[in-house]
Amino acid sequence: MSTPAERSRAYRDRQRGGPPRSPAPHGTVAAYRRHQRAQEAPCEACKVAHAEYQRELYAKRKSR
Ligand SMILES: [Zn+2]
Repeated sequence: MSTPAERSRAYRDRQRGGPPRSPAPHGTVAAYRRHQRAQEAPCEACKVAHAEYQRELYAKRKSR
């Protein structure tokens, strides 16, 4: 049994010809997006990372 996400990851690995990439660890924006893609609630570490990211975006927008 494999999910579409797993199949497309395997496909990209084959296209690249390299070893599979290890997914980003929790506590990063990438991992937060992975939670979203899986339609699950992000864990605490990922929520914090995302909040921090949004705060930075906001600060950059304000500073211009
Ligand atoms: Zn997480």
